Amino acid sequence: MHNPIWFNPALCLIGGTWQAPSGGGTLALTNPSDGQEICQIARGAAADVDAAVAAARSALDGAWGCKTALERGRILTRLGQLVLERVEDLAALEAMDVGKPLSQARADALALARYCEFYGGAADKVMGETVPYLDGYTVYTLREPHGVTGHIVPWNYPMQIIGRSVGAALAMGNAAVLKPAEEACLTALAFAHLAEEAGLPPGALNVVPGLGAEAGAALAGHAQVDHISFTGSVRTGALVQQAAGANVVPVTLELGGKSPQLVFDDADLDAALPFLVNAGIQNAGQTCSASSRILVQRGVYEEVKSRMSAAYLGLTAGPAIEDLRLGPLISARQKEIVEGFLEQGADLTVAATGQLAENTPENGAYVCPALFADVPPDHPLAREEIFGPVQVLIPFEDEADALRIANSTDYGLVASVWTRDGSRQMRLAKKLRAGQVFVNNYGAGGGVELPFGGVGKSGHGREKGFEALYGFSQLKTVAACHG
Ligand code: NAD
Repeated sequence: MHNPIWFNPALCLIGGTWQAPSGGGTLALTNPSDGQEICQIARGAAADVDAAVAAARSALDGAWGCKTALERGRILTRLGQLVLERVEDLAALEAMDVGKPLSQARADALALARYCEFYGGAADKVMGETVPYLDGYTVYTLREPHGVTGHIVPWNYPMQIIGRSVGAALAMGNAAVLKPAEEACLTALAFAHLAEEAGLPPGALNVVPGLGAEAGAALAGHAQVDHISFTGSVRTGALVQQAAGANVVPVTLELGGKSPQLVFDDADLDAALPFLVNAGIQNAGQTCSASSRILVQRGVYEEVKSRMSAAYLGLTAGPAIEDLRLGPLISARQKEIVEGFLEQGADLTVAATGQLAENTPENGAYVCPALFADVPPDHPLAREEIFGPVQVLIPFEDEADALRIANSTDYGLVASVWTRDGSRQMRLAKKLRAGQVFVNNYGAGGGVELPFGGVGKSGHGREKGFEALYGFSQLKTVAACHG
């Protein structure tokens, strides 16, 4: 396979200059499909984060800060066009770096283009309001950028998460410092190269790859950063919030979930089946909005179990380049975490498993997809985020029972309801504890336009859609007394 890296991956982008990290350190990037080293990347340190934040501030005081909303939007739209032209290159990078099957990596690159287009078009459509007030006053509101925004991104969907957070932040006129994950950062670097080509002024986007405890912690706790957007684990999210809290800086946290799909006796099972399985195994289950709990009413439980089991028998995991339904997990460490959960499920019934492709490389991080049946709602496999290709089937008796089980975890990111009963659809859409509820679908095809985020341990704040533009800005009220 040809090497898809068209840039030097061992550099940081700071103030428009690609440079080695201050300490000269590097980290090995590993291909999860075969465990081989891909290349060395920069191990950014606190000094690099300092320089990146200072460069972002200068951009705000200079060429970036004086751009109109229309001009910012045009740059983002151009960036979206460049991403579209390089979809295959970006997909090849992501497949190699994340282990994502090629067609899923391609879908992510297209989503990145769509985020740039959406936020490019939206940049000059964020309005303030006039407020009726006392006689002799005119009062209005302005939406202004926070200033320097920090973006700490995980390894599971680098392109999509960069698109939704950096895209919205730039549209609102912030200057961004991006810390990609140490496990996967090639498309972040590629995106920054394309942003330069699109005409983004130096310092408007800075990229400092490195370890979470080093570059990540330095960014989260930086006194000159005005907003932090974080996607990742609950544990790290809490640390990031604490660090930002010391500087009284707002934080958006997107921390994953244990998202249920509720299948009622009257559901259209032919329509539901592909969603029930795919929402659990897409990206080998390493998806914040993965549907890892399938709650099924007794009347159709056996049928759903048998049809999902049949689907599982047809699932194969193999190298990203072979473009099967599943690739490997991101790393040997993630494989260990998932295998630990599978051991905890030793007392449960396995309804079906998939298989590994023949001749999968020995050092790849492969896990066989597994479907567990009749899982008690309080079992760890039914409560904790596994982040692997594992789903649990939980039977329920009636609507109240389904709702109780669905709302019984610490998380609340996404939920879906499969039923033909319109009143039930409306009732459950209100009562389910989740940031997004889907009715007779799951995920609505990605939903660049749809506000997204969680409640409870799934986090707070909203990204995607127009709502993200409000999150990446602050409201100023102007009250003019003119008599
Ligand atoms: P993580 O939360 O530790 O890492 C996510 C990002 O945070 C990475 O860029 C990392 O470098 C950075 N980071 C780590 N420590 C930091 C710190 N102290 N300060 C600032 N930034 C820091 O996640 P992980 O260790 O890669 O994965 C562990 C588990 O987290 C997974 O098994 C999964 O359950 C969950 N996870 C969830 C998501 C999601 O989309 N919600 C994404 C990745 C991982």
